[in-house]
Amino acid sequence: MSAEGPTARTARPEGPAAYVARVTFRTAPSARVVALTIDDGPTREWTPQVLRILRQHGAKATFFVVGERAQAAPRWVVQAADAGHELANHTWAHSDLTQNNEAFDRDSLERTHELLVHLTGRAPSLCRPPYGRIDSVGLAVCAGLHYGVMLWSNHVTGSNARGDVDTTLRHASPGSIVLAHDGGSEPNASLMQQLDRLVASMKDAGYRFVTVSELLAAPAHGGAAAT
Ligand SMILES: [Zn+2]
Repeated sequence: MSAEGPTARTARPEGPAAYVARVTFRTAPSARVVALTIDDGPTREWTPQVLRILRQHGAKATFFVVGERAQAAPRWVVQAADAGHELANHTWAHSDLTQNNEAFDRDSLERTHELLVHLTGRAPSLCRPPYGRIDSVGLAVCAGLHYGVMLWSNHVTGSNARGDVDTTLRHASPGSIVLAHDGGSEPNASLMQQLDRLVASMKDAGYRFVTVSELLAAPAHGGAAAT
């Protein structure tokens, strides 16, 4: 890759069509709904545990999957889709979208997109950039794929799962988007226990866990759609 100065790394969208990518951290729906998002899987060890927790509480989630991991463990992608969860794009190999050129980023997202279509019969509509890192190049690729870019408002880590759930329970409000992991270095038994506690406690507080697409479609405060 050629050396690029900071201003040289800009996308140049071609053609007359609109080129728009909406970035969301959280929404503000009038209903008491929140979204749980699960990144970096699927894995044989943790994805089934997350699916069991969700099933026990009647909760829906959105899985941002890594393409090559979905290829290695397709069964858990299919099971998640069959259970009504949303599948979304987290690149083919968990690549930092700011460290590669436009062709690489597009290929990484398109390969994952095609695999998810093949496995689930549904086209994903959301991308979460690995590490939350994205710039004009990645945003242009997402715009070209008609993807929404989904970040998060709360993070339950593996290293401080109990404290992070306490914090999330204190600060959550309708429209919160909670991040946790079913792959990579974060998931552990404590995280699974605490995810169970989070979902149970928020249900007791009157919240309903919906997919990110459902959260985006929920009417906002004041009655207007959250667009
Ligand atoms: Zn990730």
